[in-house]
Amino acid sequence: MSFPRIQPPQRLLMGPGPSAIHPSVLAALAAPTVGHLDPYFLKIMDELQSMLRQVFQTSNPMTMAISGTGSAGMETCVVNLIEPGDRMVACINGVFGGRMAEVGERLGAEVTRIERPYGEVFSPEEIRDVVQRVRPKALGIVHAETSTGAWQPLDEIAGIVHDSGALLIVDCVTSLGGVPVEVDRLGIDAAYSGSQKCLSCPPGLAPVTFGPRALEAMDRRTRKVSSWYLDVGLLRNYWGSNRAYHHTAPINMNYALHEALRLALEEGLEARFARHMQHHRALKSGLAAMGIEYSTAPGCGLPMLNSIRIPEGADDVAVRGQLLNQFGIEIGGGLGPMKGKVWRVGLMGETAQKSSVLLFLAALEQCLNTQGLCPSPGAGVAAANEEYLKQR
Ligand SMILES: *Cc1c(COP(=O)(O)O)cnc(C)c1O
Repeated sequence: MSFPRIQPPQRLLMGPGPSAIHPSVLAALAAPTVGHLDPYFLKIMDELQSMLRQVFQTSNPMTMAISGTGSAGMETCVVNLIEPGDRMVACINGVFGGRMAEVGERLGAEVTRIERPYGEVFSPEEIRDVVQRVRPKALGIVHAETSTGAWQPLDEIAGIVHDSGALLIVDCVTSLGGVPVEVDRLGIDAAYSGSQKCLSCPPGLAPVTFGPRALEAMDRRTRKVSSWYLDVGLLRNYWGSNRAYHHTAPINMNYALHEALRLALEEGLEARFARHMQHHRALKSGLAAMGIEYSTAPGCGLPMLNSIRIPEGADDVAVRGQLLNQFGIEIGGGLGPMKGKVWRVGLMGETAQKSSVLLFLAALEQCLNTQGLCPSPGAGVAAANEEYLKQR
């Protein structure tokens, strides 16, 4: 029996990730594979680390790409900093904060969960209360909650967490490359991300960075890290100056991330953040003109992940199916308690462009018409265009 060559359809990736990928990043995946200790690859790793420090806005030497997706980055931070029996606080206002708690619990940590309703964020007071009450070894929080579209302010949080003697772990999977992630200025001790959100690379690598307090905590461990694969002590020997074999790095994925980071830095971080904001504003105006509301609490919406309420009378699955089949557009459905209630429209990395916004608004109008819903014709596209005119 033989199988046809793979021939994936062209999609406009407007979901919660993966996002659209620049052709030069795809070309990097097809470049010749070299060995994982080849001098050429070692040079690529050095450059990759240097570019990751720039996007994380840190000088942390221990900054690298974990072989695995964003969840592997999460697991790396938690298993290296927390030992069985340690106290940990997980801030849960969506699916990913819940996942961090789950990782800690599986490790045997004593996890305290604090919760906010989906779409809301935590206040500095809530963080102060919990760290003073629990005295944890670490507190984990999500910067950009992709399941709800909420943007957690971090400014005051690191100081509060450090005053209690704890470490701050931040999930930057969706924020990195889309909004500022200022690891050093904010005092984040450990942060992890993923390649396929605002960095616009295929899924498969998880950038991580560890500051001095985190490294000290690892040095003080009394037990080996429970995961051999994700043990930063061992990985340091490969990503650091020893270059000792640990596991075979996914060579071509690292090429791709190198190219994606190169493009991001060539654009400039500030320009990239402004671009995400500009297209988010146009999308938001367009949706408002169509009578569609955001599900995220006012004032804390992310630019790259737009969580919107499914209009009364619209069929969730039918609309997403029509967007995909007739227009090649992928958007996300709701996760967890948001299932069937929201759509998640991503404007991540390469996807954040005028063409995505305008096509999506026009296509969504068509799909709503199919459902017998008739927002005032052309209003979405017109409002987005008006916003673009204002931005000139
Ligand atoms: C996507 C995502 C993850 C998980 O990353 P995977 O690449 O799916 O493993 C974790 N946290 C947040 C906030 C995410 O958006």
